[in-house]
Amino acid sequence: MMHSEAMLIIYVHDLHTSYGAVEAVKGVSFEVLKGEVFGLLGPNGAGKTTILETIEGLRPLQRGSVLVNGIDVAADPVRVHRLIGVQLQHVAFFDRLTLEELLHLFGELYGTRTDPTTLLTQVGLLKQRKMYVKNLSGGQRQRFSIAAALVNDPVVVFLDEPTSGLDPQARHSVWELVRAAKRRGQAVVLTTHYIEEAEALCDRVAIIDEGRIVALDTPAVLIHRLLETGFKREVEIAPATLEDVFLHLTGRTLREDV
Ligand code: ATP
Repeated sequence: MMHSEAMLIIYVHDLHTSYGAVEAVKGVSFEVLKGEVFGLLGPNGAGKTTILETIEGLRPLQRGSVLVNGIDVAADPVRVHRLIGVQLQHVAFFDRLTLEELLHLFGELYGTRTDPTTLLTQVGLLKQRKMYVKNLSGGQRQRFSIAAALVNDPVVVFLDEPTSGLDPQARHSVWELVRAAKRRGQAVVLTTHYIEEAEALCDRVAIIDEGRIVALDTPAVLIHRLLETGFKREVEIAPATLEDVFLHLTGRTLREDV
């Protein structure tokens, strides 16, 4: 693929990572463009988190090359950290600061001016601005951790299983946050085990299996290629799903906010 440099946000070439004798990532290459939502899909242990952590500069690059906005992660991880947003899983936020105060603090750590009101509005938590993270529901906590990943106005946001454990309404509200980031021109790289989520959200997906990319394209092209092989679903697709029933009965608004 040929892209102008301004469009290329992430460049990964021939990435390899081993944990002792275990080769977790075996030569992975892909690119992510400005404003693109890129999904990494794969079974447990496929290597998705290892790939993300290497691009984020949290894990040493053993072999291959990774550039973020043209900056070599191995040579200058600190500059890369300033450019990216990472939604940390299981992160322990300080208990003694409110959401608003935490976002101020994160902004100061980045040396950037942040506006907690705008960020909290973006993620639908303005009403909760004086609350503590420990008192938020699971969905609210997830949205707050996305707000925290946005304080430095990153060129790319990394979301590792951003909707795991969320109810359908909270899941759809996280999807809206991803779409809003895309509209602002930010790239989003996410992992998920919910394949329908990837289909709904991602411009392109890479399917990873045992440390290798086994397919990479838009969901539509991947489906088209499968159909060209003569593949037929055993069961016809239902015109509605159980999730449709659930959302029809319980609405699309976040329950915790009503
Ligand atoms: P999941 O979907 O379960 O989160 P994943 O695709 O993110 O999986 P990774 O967490 O990257 O996969 O793990 C890839 C492989 O590397 C697995 O076999 C895992 O056991 C191994 N691995 C990951 N982290 C370590 C570590 N710190 N030490 C040793 N092996 C590890």
